[in-house]
Amino acid sequence: MVYYLLSFSAELENLTDLQPRGGCDDPAYPYYFKLKCENCGEVSQKETCVVISEEVPLPTGRGTANLVQKCKLCGRDGSIQMIAGHGQPLTLEQSQKEEFAKLMIFDSRGFEPTDFSFADGWKAESMAGSTYNVDLSAGEFAEYDEKGACPVGISNLQAKFSVVKKQERRGGKDVFL
Ligand SMILES: [Zn+2]
Repeated sequence: MVYYLLSFSAELENLTDLQPRGGCDDPAYPYYFKLKCENCGEVSQKETCVVISEEVPLPTGRGTANLVQKCKLCGRDGSIQMIAGHGQPLTLEQSQKEEFAKLMIFDSRGFEPTDFSFADGWKAESMAGSTYNVDLSAGEFAEYDEKGACPVGISNLQAKFSVVKKQERRGGKDVFL
């Protein structure tokens, strides 16, 4: 198994705390991405969608995962399990420093996740305190904040998967670095 950290960044204009609408562990937020087979290298043509609240049984009959898929080319089975509790909202300060915020960890077997796509189902706070529901599927967002009397917006969305290692901590929760 390999752990992949999905992190993201964006240019925020008068906005902060960009995150899925129900928080970083939003049970209903749909993660769309493609899968690259670790056996034959084939990249799935269709995007796959995983949601943390949806689990399917593993082919072995033992346990569940958020996704079980067979490579169309070589037929090998793979699975993906999401690990909640490691995400953080993207703040305006991080955005200004062009830093990435952690979003979700994927325990991936047989496949490498790639090509993440932003979907609907995000929210952000304006500096004047208004909350905006944001659809990022078009790649950007722009509004006028009446309370703060200024434009608010999101652009230059980026996301990346990187391999991380699990460090077990006694008495605390696992850390992925
Ligand atoms: Zn394959």
